[in-house]
Amino acid sequence: MHGHGRRDGPRIGSARLRNGTRRPRAAQVTPGGCRARHRSAWPGRHRERSTRMLDASVPLLLRSPEDILGKIPYLLGFHPSDSIVTLYLGPQGQLRTFSNTSLGMPVHVIADEIRDIATRASAEMVVIVGYGPLTASTTVTAVADAAGRHVRAFYTCLLSGGYRYCLRSGCSCAAVTGVAFDPNATAVAAHATVLGEVALPSRDALLALADADPVAQAGVQAALPQARGIQRPELVELDELIGQAMLDQRLTDGEAARMALLLRRVPVRDAAWQRTDQEMWQRNLWLDLTRRVPDQYVAAPAALAAWCAWRRGEPTLALAAARRAAAVDPTGTIIQVVVAAIRSRRKPTDLIPVWPLPLAGRAAADPS
Ligand SMILES: [Zn+2]
Repeated sequence: MHGHGRRDGPRIGSARLRNGTRRPRAAQVTPGGCRARHRSAWPGRHRERSTRMLDASVPLLLRSPEDILGKIPYLLGFHPSDSIVTLYLGPQGQLRTFSNTSLGMPVHVIADEIRDIATRASAEMVVIVGYGPLTASTTVTAVADAAGRHVRAFYTCLLSGGYRYCLRSGCSCAAVTGVAFDPNATAVAAHATVLGEVALPSRDALLALADADPVAQAGVQAALPQARGIQRPELVELDELIGQAMLDQRLTDGEAARMALLLRRVPVRDAAWQRTDQEMWQRNLWLDLTRRVPDQYVAAPAALAAWCAWRRGEPTLALAAARRAAAVDPTGTIIQVVVAAIRSRRKPTDLIPVWPLPLAGRAAADPS
């Protein structure tokens, strides 16, 4: 009987510690404003100790503009530039979802998008952060004003040239004229790093994670003839290769070639899907194969990479991987699920709270 990767995880303690990192399940924003509230006023203050102990299962509390701005690159997976990032919050400041739009878009288009997403996510307030030149403050303010007619803009600012500028109308905090800010120097960034969250230097660097690597592809291509000669029980071999990835061991060209062949078989691909959730080692495994296998084999690993990225709350990366999979197999089930899920703007854990799905039908049909 095969266990599921995630449930097997704790058996391999060191691998779990090293690779079993995951994104925090939730983040929460203090409904205060430019100045952080006194901590005793924060409803989740009893959780502080756990947060300091870096327990990934505890929601991260974002108490100040520095916390929010430190967190954004880890939500996106990259450091944004020339864009407007919006966080959508529930009544207690729970982060519902986020969006990232180019600063070059017309103000009404960005504001309409914010309104639509806020409605779908049942958000009660938004945080709007611009990234770009100082002149962008006009655009960011206009977006916040327009969006503010539909949903409360609880905090608005611009990050420009290593400074953050508060754009809240009528605010008199120090950041109105700009205060130095380094998103990498925040406590939130340190927390995220320890949790294994990733913020690459740019959006392009993130998208490149799902690009083909022609040199590596040639290596796997050369290993395919020998890999075709191997005759072993498919699911046993899949488990062995996944077990290796769990230990942070990168597959050799020969093993990557075997995986490419195995994943072309639908029962094997589905078994791999069942074993894939939101672990960092799964992200590494499927993205590595997405870059390395020859194009005609990329549909399954890229779809699994997309699934994993979506479960981890990395929609930009998920879409990049889904695009590569769709180029080979546009009708693939996993891709369709991922793309529909991303469009829904629902949180992965709200949409599919438990993965893999419990086999309720089988239990009912089989009394033994
Ligand atoms: Zn302010």
